[in-house]
Amino acid sequence: MKAIPIIKSKLFGFYEQIVFGFSTRIGGVSPDPYGMNLSFNVGDEYINVLKNREKFFGELKIGLDELAIPRQVQGNTVKRVFIQGGYDNCDGLITNSYGVFLTISTADCLPVFLFDPVSKSIGAVHAGWRGLLLNIIPNAINMMWKEFQSFPENIKVFIGPAAGVCCYEVQDDVASKFPDEIKINSMKKFLDLKLLAKKQLINSGVNEKNIEVSEYCTICNSELFHSYRRDRERAGRMMGVIGLVR
Ligand SMILES: [Zn+2]
Repeated sequence: MKAIPIIKSKLFGFYEQIVFGFSTRIGGVSPDPYGMNLSFNVGDEYINVLKNREKFFGELKIGLDELAIPRQVQGNTVKRVFIQGGYDNCDGLITNSYGVFLTISTADCLPVFLFDPVSKSIGAVHAGWRGLLLNIIPNAINMMWKEFQSFPENIKVFIGPAAGVCCYEVQDDVASKFPDEIKINSMKKFLDLKLLAKKQLINSGVNEKNIEVSEYCTICNSELFHSYRRDRERAGRMMGVIGLVR
Protein backbone atom coordinates (compact mmCIF):
# COMPACT_ATOMS: atom_id res chain seq x y z
CA MET A 1 0.00 0.00 0.00
CA LYS A 2 1.33 3.43 -0.98
CA ALA A 3 2.14 5.77 1.88
CA ILE A 4 -0.16 8.75 2.21
CA PRO A 5 0.97 12.26 3.21
CA ILE A 6 0.55 13.01 6.90
CA ILE A 7 1.18 16.41 8.50
CA LYS A 8 3.47 16.12 11.53
CA SER A 9 4.46 18.44 14.36
CA LYS A 10 8.16 19.20 14.85
CA LEU A 11 7.52 19.94 18.51
CA PHE A 12 5.73 16.65 19.20
CA GLY A 13 8.33 14.79 17.13
CA PHE A 14 10.79 15.05 20.03
CA TYR A 15 8.62 12.82 22.22
CA GLU A 16 8.40 9.09 21.76
CA GLN A 17 5.47 8.74 24.15
CA ILE A 18 3.01 10.37 21.79
CA VAL A 19 1.68 9.49 18.37
CA PHE A 20 0.46 12.42 16.30
CA GLY A 21 -0.72 12.98 12.75
CA PHE A 22 -2.99 15.22 10.70
CA SER A 23 -4.53 14.11 7.41
CA THR A 24 -4.65 15.88 4.04
CA ARG A 25 -7.05 15.40 1.12
CA ILE A 26 -4.53 13.23 -0.74
CA GLY A 27 -4.49 9.42 -0.93
CA GLY A 28 -8.14 8.60 -0.27
CA VAL A 29 -10.52 6.35 -2.21
CA SER A 30 -13.45 8.80 -2.41
CA PRO A 31 -14.24 10.44 -5.77
CA ASP A 32 -13.39 14.14 -6.17
CA PRO A 33 -13.72 16.52 -4.44
CA TYR A 34 -13.64 14.29 -1.35
CA GLY A 35 -10.47 12.24 -1.88
CA MET A 36 -9.12 11.49 1.58
CA ASN A 37 -12.28 12.63 3.38
CA LEU A 38 -12.62 11.31 6.94
CA SER A 39 -16.11 12.57 7.84
CA PHE A 40 -19.29 10.50 7.59
CA ASN A 41 -21.41 13.68 7.66
CA VAL A 42 -20.53 15.53 4.47
CA GLY A 43 -22.29 13.54 1.75
CA ASP A 44 -19.48 11.08 1.01
CA GLU A 45 -20.17 7.30 0.78
CA TYR A 46 -19.96 5.51 4.14
CA ILE A 47 -17.80 2.68 2.79
CA ASN A 48 -15.34 5.13 1.22
CA VAL A 49 -14.96 7.09 4.44
CA LEU A 50 -14.38 3.86 6.32
CA LYS A 51 -11.65 2.85 3.85
CA ASN A 52 -10.10 6.32 4.12
CA ARG A 53 -10.08 6.12 7.90
CA GLU A 54 -8.51 2.66 7.77
CA LYS A 55 -5.80 4.03 5.48
CA PHE A 56 -5.00 7.16 7.50
CA PHE A 57 -5.14 5.67 10.96
CA GLY A 58 -3.55 2.44 9.71
CA GLU A 59 -0.56 4.45 8.51
CA LEU A 60 -0.16 5.67 12.11
CA LYS A 61 -0.74 2.13 13.43
CA ILE A 62 -3.91 3.19 15.21
CA GLY A 63 -7.03 1.01 15.17
CA LEU A 64 -10.42 2.62 14.46
CA ASP A 65 -11.65 1.14 17.76
CA GLU A 66 -8.99 3.13 19.64
CA LEU A 67 -10.38 6.55 18.68
CA ALA A 68 -12.17 9.07 20.88
CA ILE A 69 -14.30 11.25 18.61
CA PRO A 70 -16.15 14.38 19.72
CA ARG A 71 -19.41 15.27 17.97
CA GLN A 72 -18.42 18.89 17.49
CA VAL A 73 -20.95 21.69 17.90
CA GLN A 74 -18.84 24.91 17.73
CA GLY A 75 -19.18 25.26 21.50
CA ASN A 76 -16.67 25.50 24.34
CA THR A 77 -17.15 22.20 26.17
CA VAL A 78 -14.04 20.13 26.85
CA LYS A 79 -14.52 16.61 28.26
CA ARG A 80 -12.09 14.42 30.12
CA VAL A 81 -12.26 10.92 28.68
CA PHE A 82 -11.04 7.56 29.94
CA ILE A 83 -11.99 5.35 27.03
CA GLN A 84 -12.41 5.48 23.28
CA GLY A 85 -15.80 6.14 21.68
CA GLY A 86 -18.04 8.99 20.52
CA TYR A 87 -18.66 12.01 22.76
CA ASP A 88 -21.71 14.22 22.25
CA ASN A 89 -21.84 18.00 22.39
CA CYS A 90 -18.20 18.85 22.86
CA ASP A 91 -15.37 20.38 20.88
CA GLY A 92 -12.46 19.26 22.97
CA LEU A 93 -11.22 16.11 24.69
CA ILE A 94 -8.44 15.59 27.22
CA THR A 95 -7.04 12.40 28.69
CA ASN A 96 -4.11 10.80 30.46
CA SER A 97 -5.17 7.29 29.45
CA TYR A 98 -2.74 5.36 27.28
CA GLY A 99 -4.05 4.04 23.98
CA VAL A 100 -7.01 6.44 23.83
CA PHE A 101 -6.45 8.42 20.63
CA LEU A 102 -8.11 11.83 20.68
CA THR A 103 -9.35 13.14 17.33
CA ILE A 104 -10.57 16.41 15.91
CA SER A 105 -12.25 16.88 12.54
CA THR A 106 -11.79 20.14 10.61
CA ALA A 107 -11.82 21.83 7.23
CA ASP A 108 -10.94 25.49 7.99
CA CYS A 109 -11.35 25.66 11.78
CA LEU A 110 -8.32 25.41 14.05
CA PRO A 111 -7.24 21.96 15.16
CA VAL A 112 -5.31 22.49 18.40
CA PHE A 113 -3.34 19.68 20.03
CA LEU A 114 -1.90 19.75 23.55
CA PHE A 115 0.71 17.63 25.26
CA ASP A 116 2.17 17.91 28.74
CA PRO A 117 5.23 15.63 28.98
CA VAL A 118 5.42 16.18 32.77
CA SER A 119 1.89 15.11 33.79
CA LYS A 120 1.76 12.86 30.70
CA SER A 121 -1.58 14.14 29.48
CA ILE A 122 -2.95 15.27 26.14
CA GLY A 123 -5.76 17.26 24.59
CA ALA A 124 -7.39 17.91 21.22
CA VAL A 125 -9.54 20.97 20.57
CA HIS A 126 -11.62 22.18 17.63
CA ALA A 127 -11.93 25.97 17.48
CA GLY A 128 -13.56 28.11 14.85
CA TRP A 129 -14.21 31.82 15.45
CA ARG A 130 -17.16 30.91 17.66
CA GLY A 131 -15.14 28.55 19.80
CA LEU A 132 -12.35 31.11 20.11
CA LEU A 133 -14.84 33.75 21.31
CA LEU A 134 -16.23 31.21 23.78
CA ASN A 135 -12.68 30.58 25.10
CA ILE A 136 -12.52 26.88 24.41
CA ILE A 137 -8.72 27.01 24.33
CA PRO A 138 -8.31 28.57 27.82
CA ASN A 139 -10.99 26.09 28.99
CA ALA A 140 -8.86 23.19 27.79
CA ILE A 141 -5.75 24.55 29.54
CA ASN A 142 -7.76 25.01 32.77
CA MET A 143 -9.20 21.51 32.51
CA MET A 144 -5.72 20.03 32.13
CA TRP A 145 -4.72 21.80 35.34
CA LYS A 146 -7.83 20.64 37.19
CA GLU A 147 -7.74 17.03 36.01
CA PHE A 148 -4.01 16.34 35.67
CA GLN A 149 -2.29 19.22 37.50
CA SER A 150 -0.66 20.20 34.24
CA PHE A 151 1.23 23.46 34.58
CA PRO A 152 0.51 25.59 31.49
CA GLU A 153 4.23 26.37 31.12
CA ASN A 154 4.89 22.66 30.56
CA ILE A 155 2.27 22.22 27.85
CA LYS A 156 3.41 21.87 24.22
CA VAL A 157 0.93 22.98 21.57
CA PHE A 158 0.54 22.34 17.87
CA ILE A 159 -1.96 24.44 15.94
CA GLY A 160 -2.59 22.58 12.70
CA PRO A 161 -3.50 23.63 9.16
CA ALA A 162 -6.49 26.00 9.14
CA ALA A 163 -7.91 29.04 7.39
CA GLY A 164 -5.10 31.60 7.17
CA VAL A 165 -5.27 35.36 7.45
CA CYS A 166 -4.34 35.38 3.72
CA CYS A 167 -7.82 34.11 2.85
CA TYR A 168 -10.19 34.17 5.82
CA GLU A 169 -12.30 37.18 4.96
CA VAL A 170 -15.10 38.04 7.37
CA GLN A 171 -17.98 40.46 7.25
CA ASP A 172 -18.41 43.37 9.66
CA ASP A 173 -20.70 41.47 12.04
CA VAL A 174 -18.00 38.86 12.75
CA ALA A 175 -15.05 41.27 12.52
CA SER A 176 -16.60 43.57 15.13
CA LYS A 177 -16.48 40.80 17.73
CA PHE A 178 -12.68 40.67 17.62
CA PRO A 179 -9.95 43.07 18.74
CA ASP A 180 -8.36 45.26 16.09
CA GLU A 181 -5.00 43.53 15.99
CA ILE A 182 -6.38 40.34 14.53
CA LYS A 183 -7.78 41.76 11.34
CA ILE A 184 -6.11 43.41 8.40
CA ASN A 185 -8.05 46.25 6.90
CA SER A 186 -7.75 47.28 3.33
CA MET A 187 -11.12 47.26 1.69
CA LYS A 188 -11.70 43.88 3.26
CA LYS A 189 -11.40 42.40 6.73
CA PHE A 190 -9.45 39.25 7.42
CA LEU A 191 -9.42 37.34 10.65
CA ASP A 192 -6.23 35.71 11.93
CA LEU A 193 -7.59 32.70 13.81
CA LYS A 194 -4.11 31.26 14.41
CA LEU A 195 -2.77 34.46 15.96
CA LEU A 196 -5.81 34.76 18.20
CA ALA A 197 -5.39 31.17 19.38
CA LYS A 198 -1.71 31.80 20.07
CA LYS A 199 -2.52 34.90 22.13
CA GLN A 200 -5.12 33.01 24.16
CA LEU A 201 -2.58 30.27 24.85
CA ILE A 202 0.04 32.77 26.00
CA ASN A 203 -2.54 34.54 28.20
CA SER A 204 -3.33 31.14 29.72
CA GLY A 205 0.31 30.71 30.73
CA VAL A 206 1.63 28.65 27.82
CA ASN A 207 5.20 29.52 26.89
CA GLU A 208 5.51 31.03 23.41
CA LYS A 209 8.41 28.72 22.56
CA ASN A 210 6.14 25.74 23.25
CA ILE A 211 3.65 26.77 20.58
CA GLU A 212 4.06 25.56 17.01
CA VAL A 213 1.73 27.00 14.39
CA SER A 214 1.31 25.31 11.02
CA GLU A 215 2.00 27.69 8.13
CA TYR A 216 -0.55 25.93 5.96
CA CYS A 217 -3.73 27.74 4.99
CA THR A 218 -6.49 25.27 4.12
CA ILE A 219 -8.26 27.71 1.78
CA CYS A 220 -5.41 28.48 -0.63
CA ASN A 221 -3.67 25.09 -0.43
CA SER A 222 -6.40 23.40 -2.45
CA GLU A 223 -4.13 20.51 -3.49
CA LEU A 224 -3.44 19.51 0.09
CA PHE A 225 -6.49 20.38 2.16
CA HIS A 226 -10.25 20.37 2.32
CA SER A 227 -11.82 23.77 2.88
CA TYR A 228 -15.40 24.51 3.74
CA ARG A 229 -14.94 28.12 2.76
CA ARG A 230 -13.73 27.04 -0.68
CA ASP A 231 -15.83 23.96 -1.43
CA ARG A 232 -18.91 24.56 0.76
CA GLU A 233 -21.33 21.60 0.87
CA ARG A 234 -18.93 19.45 -1.10
CA ALA A 235 -16.03 19.96 1.30
CA GLY A 236 -14.51 16.90 2.96
CA ARG A 237 -12.87 16.94 6.37
CA MET A 238 -9.37 16.24 7.62
CA MET A 239 -8.73 14.62 10.98
CA GLY A 240 -5.95 15.10 13.46
CA VAL A 241 -5.12 12.54 16.11
CA ILE A 242 -3.00 12.48 19.25
CA GLY A 243 -2.44 9.58 21.64
CA LEU A 244 -0.18 8.45 24.47
CA VAL A 245 1.75 5.25 23.90
CA ARG A 246 4.17 3.26 26.03
ZN1 LIG B 1 -4.73 31.33 2.30
